[in-house]
Amino acid sequence: MPRVIVIANQKGGVGKTTTAVNIAAGLALGGLKVLVVDMDPQGNASTALGVEHQEGVRGTYEVVVDGEPVESVLQSCPDIPGLWVVPATIDLAGAEIGLVATVSRETRLRNALADFFTKYYVDYVLIDCPPSLGLLTLNALVAAREIMIPIQCEYYALEGVTQLMRTIDLVKGRLNDDLRLTTVLLTMFDARTNLSSQVADQVRQHFAAQTLPTAIPRSVRVAEAPSYGQTVLSYHLASAGAQAYLTAAREIAERGAHL
Ligand code: ADP
Ligand code: MG
Repeated sequence: MPRVIVIANQKGGVGKTTTAVNIAAGLALGGLKVLVVDMDPQGNASTALGVEHQEGVRGTYEVVVDGEPVESVLQSCPDIPGLWVVPATIDLAGAEIGLVATVSRETRLRNALADFFTKYYVDYVLIDCPPSLGLLTLNALVAAREIMIPIQCEYYALEGVTQLMRTIDLVKGRLNDDLRLTTVLLTMFDARTNLSSQVADQVRQHFAAQTLPTAIPRSVRVAEAPSYGQTVLSYHLASAGAQAYLTAAREIAERGAHL
């Protein structure tokens, strides 16, 4: 079975999308087959992976609301072999409402992926979530076995993580027994500031087993890459940000799904 990892943190701007696309790219460059599911109506992951996602393009909405098969909407990432994307368009903003009236509305994505896995092989599925705990995020949490939380090395880093942990417990108890927090990734780390190091220490204490050894540095290349429709690994592989994501991807793969 593929490892299905949801990248969650209801705080916006902490590096969820950046992490989803660059870890996906790192795994794919390592020779693994990776599917990214863009669950955010903003479609930032789709942009960064260089796939079409203008209004009207079929993607996550059609899968979760209309029940269309994953393979009928996925696109391959143009510059990274072994990487596929279920794109999100702005239409996905209507999915929270569209889903309310559907049967088993929390398990739509899980069922769609299960059906896909019977026909196609991938090693990893990474799901990028919107910054909220609505039905889209719930679908992602129900579809995944692992949670990865990116934590920005800034003030209030752990703010919201407590609420996310409570949500995870609720989902575990009712909808998905298998769900586990396996990975915490420190993002936008700035080695020159005491604050970054303090936050990093605090997170490593709080999530001792889950926090990856590698932290992602704050890097201009990482921030620039999406405007070229690229991950930083294809945009500037030699940059510190790209190398950190490559190493983090290797750490995730080597640790496996079990802590
Ligand atoms: P989220 O998906 O959690 O809202 P994003 O991944 O979109 O967060 O990141 C928020 C902003 O921070 C984006 O503009 C992104 O380019 C920038 N960013 C993310 N990681 C880094 C980094 N390591 N260095 C510099 N900028 C970053
Ligand atoms: Mg995002």
